[in-house]
Amino acid sequence: MVRTRIAPSPTGSDIHIGNIATALKNWAWAKKNHGKFIIRIEDTDQTRLVAGSEKKILETLERIGLKADESPLVGGPHSPYRQSERLDIYKKYAEELVSKRKAYYCVCTPTRLTKMREEMQLKKQMSRYDRHCLINQEEVIKQIKENKTSFVIRLKIPDEKIELEDLIRGKITFQAKDIDDQVLLKSDGFPTYHLGVVVDDYLMEITHIIRGEEWLPSTPKHVILYKSFNWPLPIFVHLPLLRNPDKSKLSKRKNPVWASYYLDQGIFPEVIVNYLALMGWSHPEGKDIFSLEEYLKVFDIKDIQTSAPVFDPVKLDWMNGEYIRQKSIRQLADQILEFYKKQNINLDEKVVEKTIPLIKERIKKLSDY
Ligand code: GLU
Repeated sequence: MVRTRIAPSPTGSDIHIGNIATALKNWAWAKKNHGKFIIRIEDTDQTRLVAGSEKKILETLERIGLKADESPLVGGPHSPYRQSERLDIYKKYAEELVSKRKAYYCVCTPTRLTKMREEMQLKKQMSRYDRHCLINQEEVIKQIKENKTSFVIRLKIPDEKIELEDLIRGKITFQAKDIDDQVLLKSDGFPTYHLGVVVDDYLMEITHIIRGEEWLPSTPKHVILYKSFNWPLPIFVHLPLLRNPDKSKLSKRKNPVWASYYLDQGIFPEVIVNYLALMGWSHPEGKDIFSLEEYLKVFDIKDIQTSAPVFDPVKLDWMNGEYIRQKSIRQLADQILEFYKKQNINLDEKVVEKTIPLIKERIKKLSDY
């Protein structure tokens, strides 16, 4: 059974439009294959948490119609779906790796680590952990037991070539010497992203990891983890990042990036879905506008292109205008009334109905009314 997931971190005021594009591919691939789409909240970086973020992210996904089969809200067979509630699981697996000698305890202080990195920089070496605690592991274990010193658990990167297969990018090779002995379990008992994501994707039986290409440099570490645990690898698909029309990285400075902004402007959820479906993928007949049903019929994950797709809000508005023109006066009137009612503006139904024929050809989004 196909099982896909998105794993947002609640570190922003809403979900990024690029993450909605990723969520859509995951959702569509699961639905198309009669599988399951899972939402897991990755809230392990306690320093970056933003109050209200998780609620807003889940709400926006729901408004767009990307409903999860399993999530912190709906639960499921692999509950809990919030990483901060799974700490004992990560601890157990981190310790399993230590007992297999695939990971080790480290008690180096931040001061020592800073000094070590500064010295490496002076020598123009790549800054990486010097394995001081691995070399003295017996001593370190004794110290932890006796003084209850705080510690982290680090992954021992094996000295070998790491190969991984990406469904749309093919084989990618990484060299171990370029990878640092990654911290897996932090001194506060929380896992790092790498441990949390691998343990959960395995336990939650995720078959396809479809995520943005910004995570590609992390994937060799994940492959080492899967191998260290002796777990089968999932299928990896790293999607191209969305760009502004001038090809720069999508960022707040150029265009709004929070997904709810577009909904609040009166862009229809189905238009956001239709438009984002075209990011990194094209309809086999070159169509721009198609229904969700049609999308699910023709979409295939292997057809995703790796070249950077352009997210153009002007094109999104244009598409919304096309959807508006397909609606009957009644449908549009209801949507306009509801849109304004949510903002505590009660329009006169008769006036709305009368004016629709005058504006239907011209407006692009409901807020234009
Ligand atoms: N927590 C990561 C994020 O914020 C998840 C990345 C992944 O999908 O592995 O997007």
